[in-house]
Amino acid sequence: MNLIDVNTLFPTEEKCRELLVRLRWPEGPRCPRCKANAVELGTDKQLFYCKDCDYQFSVTAGTVFNDSHLPLVKWFAATLLLCEAKKGMSACQIQRTLGIGGYKTAWYLCHRIRHAMALADKPMLDGKVEMDTTYVGGVNRGKGICARVDNKEVVVGIRKRNGDLRFFHSKDARSGTLAKYIRENISEDVEVMFTDDFYANTVAVRKAGIKNHKTIVHSKGSYVNGDIHTNTVESAFSLLKRGIMGTWHHVSAKHLQFYLYEMCFRFDRRQNPNLFLDTLLHMVTAPVLTFEKLTA
Ligand SMILES: [Zn+2]
Repeated sequence: MNLIDVNTLFPTEEKCRELLVRLRWPEGPRCPRCKANAVELGTDKQLFYCKDCDYQFSVTAGTVFNDSHLPLVKWFAATLLLCEAKKGMSACQIQRTLGIGGYKTAWYLCHRIRHAMALADKPMLDGKVEMDTTYVGGVNRGKGICARVDNKEVVVGIRKRNGDLRFFHSKDARSGTLAKYIRENISEDVEVMFTDDFYANTVAVRKAGIKNHKTIVHSKGSYVNGDIHTNTVESAFSLLKRGIMGTWHHVSAKHLQFYLYEMCFRFDRRQNPNLFLDTLLHMVTAPVLTFEKLTA
């Protein structure tokens, strides 16, 4: 689905709402408070009513759309743009493209879409899996092994070859921290895990109980040895860095994890023809994200 399809299929608030109703309640409307079956009120505002708890609500109540003053057609267009832009799209660009009043509104909109993406299932990875770490943000000081990285943020990348990607904003790159990401994301019966020979990686893989581990000896200048390499996770890192440098310009450490979730969500669904609908489904089932909570 492209922007023209979205505009053609969902040109009005009513059409947008109808789609959200089908996605949120495939088996008929339900009360967001008490989960009882609800009825549609037949008003032009498309409201629903729960007689069990005497509550009147719209399809967007209690979701990331909650209390938004933006028309749903703009929400739909923003969602499509965020799904389609391989390297992401800045709030500033969304604001200009969709004619949204203020930057803050556009920024909040993008974050709500991102938070819904963050809630998507992340199945354990198996098969051939690579792990590596990189640093983003901050200012480069020094080069190579002497480079200082204390003002940068650590990102752990885990990628199944020909499969899914996980990025995590990590507090450090120590073995205990890495082992936790391995345990939470890589299946114990993974066929083989590839990392470089950075000592913390070797310890982390052992701590996580992974048996088959192969390392590429970066410290001796080797980058590929047969099928032993970490090139597929590294290519995802370069996509991330182009996203951060080129699109988002500056990503604060506070929100970095959510940009990472967004990038992985899109990456893992790059061949999904229903990406737009899949994203809306997450949005209409994700909980409210208030501006206060986002900026707290
Ligand atoms: Zn109710």
